[in-house]
Amino acid sequence: MRADAAGVLGILGGTFDPVHFGHLRLAQEAADCLQLDGVRLIPAGQPRHRGTPGALAADRLAMVRLAAAGVTHFTVDAAEVLSEQPSYTVPTLERLRGELGETQPIVLIVGADAFAGLPRWHRWRELFALAHIGVATRPGYSLEPEQLAPELAAEFANRSATPEALRGAAGGCIVPFSMTPLEISATAIRALIGARRTPRFLVPDEVLDYIEAHSLYRQAP
Ligand code: ATP
Repeated sequence: MRADAAGVLGILGGTFDPVHFGHLRLAQEAADCLQLDGVRLIPAGQPRHRGTPGALAADRLAMVRLAAAGVTHFTVDAAEVLSEQPSYTVPTLERLRGELGETQPIVLIVGADAFAGLPRWHRWRELFALAHIGVATRPGYSLEPEQLAPELAAEFANRSATPEALRGAAGGCIVPFSMTPLEISATAIRALIGARRTPRFLVPDEVLDYIEAHSLYRQAP
């Protein structure tokens, strides 16, 4: 598997504040379940919909780079962190389309919580013209139609597809997949560190070392 080679490319955006094993398993299981040829991790610069992250964008990017180092099918895209503009997914996908062409299948990977929040995203209906969506189960979040906003449930019903469909089009399908349940969140990790407890075994050791060396997240949230 080689990232960004012709084939099906997965995109995993997030605040990654900090990156943890939930994110990394999500990327890995998406690659396995959706037969992706690579996954690009894209840390947000100034994320929309939420307050200021606990760590600077440069630190969040550095931690994602450490976490992805040595995984041949993961790449890291720094463009959002380097951009002066706030981060939105549709403009990011437009940029990727410009870079990769109109026919490259792209799968936006999201956890069930992010998927449920899709109707709040800037220009969300344009997502489907730009990419497929691969949605992973996440403990505590439901993908049942009655739990989703009606307009999202309708898109889900119309666009629901199997992994095999992803290779046949540049975008437009929604493919759910089950992921090993990992009840890990960046919020809980920041809270642990703020309470002077260690997030060891929730994040890669290299990320833990970076957090400690830079005294990140020591203010309780
Ligand atoms: P926070 O707690 O700060 O909101 P988070 O841990 O949810 O952060 P994000 O950077 O907001 O992490 O998430 C990026 C993507 O990873 C989202 O699509 C989210 O659904 C997904 N994700 C994060 N943690 C998990 C997990 N444990 N299992 C499945 N998906 C996850």
